[in-house]
This record gives sequence, C-alpha cells and structure tokens, in this order.
Amino acid sequence: MRLRMSHKLNRALLPLLLGMSVTFANESRAEDFSHFVDKLRLDATAAGISRAVIREGTRGLTPNRKVMSLSKKQPEFLQPVGRYISKRVTKGAIHAGRRKVRKHAWLLEQVEERYGVDRFVVAAIWGLETSYGGYTGKSDVMRSLATLGWSGYRGDFFRKQFLDALYIMQTEKIGRDRMVGSWAGGLGQTQFIPSSYRAHAVDFDGDGRRDLWRSTADALASTANYLVKHGWAPHQPWGFAVSLPSKLPRTAETRQWRAWRSAGVRRRDGGRLPAKGSATLFFPAGSEGPAFLVTGNYWAIRDYNWSDSYVLSVTQLARHFGKRQPVSLDWPRTRPLLKPQRQRIQALLAKLGYKVPNRIGRITADMRDVIRDYQLSRGLVADGHPDEGLLAALERE
Ligand code: CA
Repeated sequence: MRLRMSHKLNRALLPLLLGMSVTFANESRAEDFSHFVDKLRLDATAAGISRAVIREGTRGLTPNRKVMSLSKKQPEFLQPVGRYISKRVTKGAIHAGRRKVRKHAWLLEQVEERYGVDRFVVAAIWGLETSYGGYTGKSDVMRSLATLGWSGYRGDFFRKQFLDALYIMQTEKIGRDRMVGSWAGGLGQTQFIPSSYRAHAVDFDGDGRRDLWRSTADALASTANYLVKHGWAPHQPWGFAVSLPSKLPRTAETRQWRAWRSAGVRRRDGGRLPAKGSATLFFPAGSEGPAFLVTGNYWAIRDYNWSDSYVLSVTQLARHFGKRQPVSLDWPRTRPLLKPQRQRIQALLAKLGYKVPNRIGRITADMRDVIRDYQLSRGLVADGHPDEGLLAALERE
C-alpha cells in the first residue's frame, strides 16, 4: 500500500520536479549568457569599438535555441556529391543566373578584369549563396553569433566573429537593424562571415563604404578579392572534367598540363588543355567516380566553403553561363565521410608517422597528398580520396 502510494506520488511529482529543474537550469544558463555578453563588451572596448556601437550591437541579446540546434547539422557533408549538385544546379538556378549574368555583364566584366577571377564563377557563388542577392537571410546576426560563441560550438571562432561584426557596424556605419543574415552569421549578397568581411570586402562602387547588402558591385568584387587572397591565380582555369586512358594509373599526382596531354588525358567537353602550368589529378568521389584536373584555383573556391560538393556545384553552374556547357557526369551514390570519420583518418595517419596538415577533418590538397602517399605505400589505388575503404584499411594497420 505504501509502495503504491509512493509510486503514485512520484509519478505525480515527476513532471513538477523535472519542470523545476529545467527552470533552474535555464535560469543559470541565462545568467551565463549575460555574463558572456558582458565579457564580449569588455573585449570589444579593448578592441577599440565605441561605446555607442557596443550598446547597439549587444542590445537585448538572448540565446537563440534554433541556432544552437542548426549548428549541429551540416548538409554539405551528408549528401552524395551528385545529389548535392543536382539539388542546387537546377533549371531555375541556371535560368535566373543567365538573366543576372546578362543584366550585370558590364560589372562582371569589370570584376574579372580587375581581379582575374572567372566572372561566371563569381556569378555562380552569388547564385548559390543567396539566389543572386534575392535572399540574404533573416537572422539577427548579432544574436546568432553571440549564441554560437556562448554555446561552445566553435566558441572562440564565433566570439571573434561577433567582435568583427561590431567592427563592421562601426567602420561601415551599418546599423544593428541591417545586421541581418544567415543563422551562422553569413552577411550580404555573397554571405561573408564577419572576419572575411572585415579582411576581404572591397568598396567597388566607390561610395566610400563596403556594403555587401545593398551594393551588388561591392558584393561581387569582394568575392573575387576573397578568392585572390586565398590563392586564385589570375586568368587561370580552376580545372576541367577529364577522361583518362584506361591504362593510366588513378594516382592523384601533379604534372604539367602538357604532360597530362601526352599521357592521353582529354577534356570531357572537347576543349584543349592549357599549354602552360600544372594541374593535379583529382577524384572528388574516389577513383570510381568522375576525374578532374584541377589547379590551385579549385582550392581557392573551396576556401569559400569547405565542401567539394559546393565547389563542384559552383563550377558546374558557372559552366552553364559560359559558351561551353558542362558535360554530364556519372557520380557514385556513396556519401562523403562525416567529420568524425575524417578526423579518425587523420589521427590514424598521424599515428603512422605521416605529416597530417590538420586534425579537424579538413581534406585539403595537402591532406589528399598524404592519403595518396599512404595508398601508394600499401599498393592501393592512390586516388587521394578519403572513404570507408581507406578508413577500414587504416583501422587494420
Ligand atoms: Ca560601396
């Protein structure tokens, strides 16, 4: 009888107890957050931000739970490459892009002339980021950045972004009401994060301000400038989809364009390979999938967004704007590895004594070289591509 009573009592009390503990947890978390914002104010003062801008930039901040849950999803890394591309390089995106390219032909030409970046690549980034300036996001960026800095997901990175956002408000005279963008803090027509805005945005229309929301000229030139600052070699291609002779080993090595040509490698679109410079054989989805020859310009675009699927969507869309249409490629259905898997590969390679360029799961050009070297040492197909097979082989070491 007593047991049943207490059982009943517990069940009745449970929601109440849980409810109370949730309330307490929220209150102390809320206090944490306001301390965190106080600390941001001090850091901003030390960084030379005026009191007025700090007051405006931190007014009424509360944590945004939606941002916290979104920060745990990264769709770029989950979809197979071909699926990702087909969802973004749609008939609608191509059609809208061609119209924009015609409308802004003069501006795009000026940008290409000034920075040496393919105008269609710039236009494609513009299209993928915000549908050509049509949708630049609706999030209160200061609130998003404060939430991300506070909640610990790459906390230091977002704290710095918050301070850079204040700096932009101050130097570009942009009010808090206009600091609106993506949930992760992407700003303006080409979604610059605040640190990129601060370092690489340019005033291309010459009105004395770098305004990536209202000025398409500033936004597009800033994108080209960003690519140059991340290694884009002016007036050089990013690369080409290629076909390989069957006897050529699928080894991710770098050779002169000329050497690739004499090895029998051909552009899939029938054009000629460049006469000067070098390129690396690249298999974005492994040696079973499409092959490309790429230059450092490919990796410059990849600095914009750390995903091969993204870069390949940009380059594919860009081809739709130019004279030569892209060839259709047969992508395998395999999904790219998740970040913890990529990090595991890096840890295992480091354990074997390889010089791993980072341990945060980024598959850079250098990282692909390391993978290729490991594959060569084990007599595997040296495509430099991280996949389940590679991870399994490393686990067996
Ligand atoms: Ca301007």
